[in-house]
Amino acid sequence: MTSTLTPALLRAAVAAAKRGWPVFPLRPGDKRPAGHPERACPRSGRCTEGHRTPEQRATLDAGHITACWQAAPYNVGIATGPAQLVVVDLDIPKDETDTAPPEWAGMADGLDVFAVLCERAGERLPFETYTVRTRRGGQHLYFTAPEGKTLRSTGGSLGWKVDTRAWGGYVVAAGSVVGGAPYEIIHEAPAAPLPAWLSDLLTPKPAPAPMPLSELSARMRNATAYSTTAMRGELEKVLSAREGGRNRAVYGAAYALARLVRTGDLTETAVTSELMSAGQSIGLPASECRTAIRSGLIRGGAGEASAA
Ligand SMILES: [Zn+2]
Repeated sequence: MTSTLTPALLRAAVAAAKRGWPVFPLRPGDKRPAGHPERACPRSGRCTEGHRTPEQRATLDAGHITACWQAAPYNVGIATGPAQLVVVDLDIPKDETDTAPPEWAGMADGLDVFAVLCERAGERLPFETYTVRTRRGGQHLYFTAPEGKTLRSTGGSLGWKVDTRAWGGYVVAAGSVVGGAPYEIIHEAPAAPLPAWLSDLLTPKPAPAPMPLSELSARMRNATAYSTTAMRGELEKVLSAREGGRNRAVYGAAYALARLVRTGDLTETAVTSELMSAGQSIGLPASECRTAIRSGLIRGGAGEASAA
């Protein structure tokens, strides 16, 4: 198969590789990876040892690149993870029914939303970097990934029409043509480092450490065996609560333990602190935890003083 596109696409692949970004072929005229998907893997050829994903196939090797892009007018995929890139993908609505959800009301596209994110962070729009206009008029802002962090692709977690491509993802490189429309460099520059505030927003929050119930007696050494047992029972209920029932579980525990606070067997401080740890360790935000505990204690007849 030959095509007038082949030399241009070969040049695009070589240009990306020269920047240090490993490339792999996308289907001609398309943005999907060339070759078979994992579910249709023949376990032969390059997949003899197991299916090789585009991320694993992506290469900087000039010989491989030339052979591949001389064979067919493949579009060019850049494997963002191995390329040490984080690409911010500012998309535009697909059609007039594709409108912003309430929290982004009034925003026309991903660029608008990204501008608001920058403003909230008190930062300027980070436009001084290698930028590609996508075939539908969106933008890909290329940034180098922060050292020592493995950021994964995100879809809409930053905001409406704002995706990121990192490990587990790829971008269609400049010079590719999808559905007759080109991806073009609109700002020719080196990729700038990912701004720290974006890196922070994209870093998954660590799961809270599981709460060691075994140390409960030591923490409550002034409490009676009876109240320690009661506390343990309530904490176990909280720790086994499912998503959707977590708030109610914390409230219920505070409500039940309020009786022991009233009788002076437990201190309000101890109950609050244990339930705060347990609630947060199952993923309930601190503010929700505090509110649930306070109302549980008040409704249970303790903690009036802390109502604020
Ligand atoms: Zn395979």
